[in-house]
Amino acid sequence: MTSPRDIDPADLRASELLLLPEHLMLRGGSVGGQAVVVKDGRFSDVGPAAEVLARHPQLAPVALPARLVMPGFIDAHHHLTQSFGKSLAAGEPSEIFQRIWVPLEASLDDELVYKASKVAALESLRGGFTTVVDAGTRAKGDIEAVIDATREAGLRCVLGLICNDGGNQSEPALRAEVMARAERFIARWQGDALLHASLAISVPEVASDEVLVAVSRLCAESAVLFQSHVNEHLASVERSLVRRGKRPIELLDALGALGPQLLIAHGTLVTPHELRILQDTDTAVSYNPVASQWKGNAVAPALQMAELGIRFGLGTDATRSDGFRLLDAAEYAQRLAFGLSIGDFSSGGGWTWLDHATHQGADAVGLGGLTGEIAIGRRADFLIVDVDVPELCPSIDLDWDLLRLGNRDQIDAVFVDGALRLWRGWPLDWDGRALVDELRELAGRAIATAPIQRIHALSPQDRRQRLARRERGDGRPAR
Ligand SMILES: [Zn+2]
Repeated sequence: MTSPRDIDPADLRASELLLLPEHLMLRGGSVGGQAVVVKDGRFSDVGPAAEVLARHPQLAPVALPARLVMPGFIDAHHHLTQSFGKSLAAGEPSEIFQRIWVPLEASLDDELVYKASKVAALESLRGGFTTVVDAGTRAKGDIEAVIDATREAGLRCVLGLICNDGGNQSEPALRAEVMARAERFIARWQGDALLHASLAISVPEVASDEVLVAVSRLCAESAVLFQSHVNEHLASVERSLVRRGKRPIELLDALGALGPQLLIAHGTLVTPHELRILQDTDTAVSYNPVASQWKGNAVAPALQMAELGIRFGLGTDATRSDGFRLLDAAEYAQRLAFGLSIGDFSSGGGWTWLDHATHQGADAVGLGGLTGEIAIGRRADFLIVDVDVPELCPSIDLDWDLLRLGNRDQIDAVFVDGALRLWRGWPLDWDGRALVDELRELAGRAIATAPIQRIHALSPQDRRQRLARRERGDGRPAR
């Protein structure tokens, strides 16, 4: 039985679309009575419905009753090749990369890199992310496999090429080789529709000062994003202080490596002085609240950054690719870490997190003016969201409600660059479920053979150990 609220996905695959959604999320929030035209991969017209209809009499409008059309989310920090290992991270102490990711990545061959990245790309799209910023892979499998995977899935990707040269003791020949490779990578992807080249240094301590400065400069000159994990964990801040006498942000500042081309991941442990440095240099940050929740030492002071005009986006850090839950976590972490103790019940008023997950996020990752917003001329990266659900009945303030009550399963359609990539969570033009089955088998083998060091037991074992301890009375003398 069809209802007037049903949408036929076939209607969404025309080369030119005139959409009439009940709600449209513009920069200033969600409004009604608007229409959107999508042509050649971009929004070619946006405005009051009657005017847009009059301007395009040749187009058959697609009515989207009880739907919201909103910009796709930007994931400002991801590791596509690590996503399949997220189930290993539960309950683990910080600096997981040393004990889990590095051993795991070393065992990834081309086939696993390709399948893991493609499933991660699918997961991102399912969660409403139309752009993902990948911080680079240290896997022995080639970066080409990541490129193929994201392009086939139809995800917009800012892809970091790792430029680590090992530190100040590295050989000049290696430094030259790293920089030549970086230049080739940037040149190759100039002007591509979906793949945006970026350069990455995993953490400042794995590169020489010379390469840090050269990479930062090359990114600034080429208008591409430079990425690094900075001020994330206590251990890394202490290492930097002991070895170099400066905290990581201070060190990068002293080298002249900060600037609007740089996106630092995390920035959780920042002093007031470092906040000033970020502000003065217009350096961008990826605020990763779920990473803090799962494995962090602190929460980035994102509300303070917003107030100071420090540019930032929201990142998953390969934790959970659900845009709505990321919005919720962004607000929730600020509220618990900062708002609770000072009576700030608003903690950003809801809209702050929507803005930083969309147009502000696009700006932070170097794609401002290209995506992150429903406006004429922007690439058509957007979601059709079903807002006719019990959770939103009634909805007095849709933007706040999306943040606190919205859910991935309300996303009917995901469009990237004007093309319908997913319908109700799955691709229509390739077999997503078959790929998930293939990865399950391959990943299981990789996890079993990698020299991973987990600190905590899996939950069934942990439960048994704790229950046994309770039965023994925790070893305390009987009262
Ligand atoms: Zn990361």
